[in-house]
Amino acid sequence: MTIIQRAAHLLPDEDTDISEAIEAIFRQDGIALMLRADVTRVEGRSGERVQVRVRSPGGEHVIEASDLLVAVGRVPRTRDVGLDAAGVEIDTRGFIVVNDRLETSAPNTWALADSAGSPQQTHVALDDYRIVNANVFGDGARRTTDRLFPHTVFIDPELGRIGLTEREARRRGLDIRVAQVPASAVPRARTLAETRGLLKAVIDPGSQDVLGFAMLAPEAGEVTAVVQMAMLGRLPYTALRDGILAHPTMAEGLNYLFSAPLRESAIGVSNAGR
Ligand SMILES: Cc1cc2nc3c(=O)[nH]c(=O)nc-3n(C[C@H](O)[C@H](O)[C@H](O)COP(=O)(O)OP(=O)(O)OC[C@H]3O[C@@H](n4cnc5c(N)ncnc54)[C@H](O)[C@@H]3O)c2cc1C
Repeated sequence: MTIIQRAAHLLPDEDTDISEAIEAIFRQDGIALMLRADVTRVEGRSGERVQVRVRSPGGEHVIEASDLLVAVGRVPRTRDVGLDAAGVEIDTRGFIVVNDRLETSAPNTWALADSAGSPQQTHVALDDYRIVNANVFGDGARRTTDRLFPHTVFIDPELGRIGLTEREARRRGLDIRVAQVPASAVPRARTLAETRGLLKAVIDPGSQDVLGFAMLAPEAGEVTAVVQMAMLGRLPYTALRDGILAHPTMAEGLNYLFSAPLRESAIGVSNAGR
């Protein structure tokens, strides 16, 4: 299998160390990666034989394969359904323009989830529904701004993440500390014989709030929910450091992560842009 990716990393929105760890695991598992690479031509028929021509910093390549999976993002199909006649504005990419209450430009008309340009995840779509519901039938206090939602990338091992990345925290000019341990520090990872990956947290040293969390390890999506609850409850990171978590669970790794020495961020504010 070969993954062809135009960006410099597989997950360009993640911190570079996280994406590089994923790339190393993929390569170990026999997946070839072509980064900073552009597909210039495809010939053949997927399911039979395909020839994919690729231009990368290393030169021109032709990949011969049996199947082709294209995953270059999705666009909303909003153009031909008469939204303009209803006075509902769409942006240049086809997303319905909404405010932070998910109201469109037409009175009493709401849009939500993928079509409204919300992050394309089922749990965000559900929360968009709650916002519209609250605004139409409730007190109208709910907004899309500043909500906290996780995402899980269902690779093996999983990537779970919530809140700010280290890069985003630095881009915002925040003073942060970073805790990091390898997945091999977690006893359960060793019993599962899957010790690749890492756990990482971004912490506000003043308030001791957890600002962000990333985990590349087995059950990372589940463990992220534990950190999410701490963030929602505004618990200091020391609660996750000192709370008694069952041994040997992957969640126990939070004890190890938050006991690790906190380091200053290596990302300068001026280098934090993408
Ligand atoms: C392959 C894939 C895997 C995914 N995996 C995950 C995942 O693991 N976790 C996760 O959180 N999210 C995942 N997502 C994203 C998630 O599915 C979407 O973000 C979510 O479904 C968005 O909800 P929605 O209501 O906006 O759109 P949809 O769920 O797509 O619903 C839109 C509905 O509108 C209907 N429709 C479209 N046009 C018209 C029309 N003109 N008239 C009437 N009806 C119409 C469609 O048939 C559809 O039923 C995945 C998406 C894809 C494509």
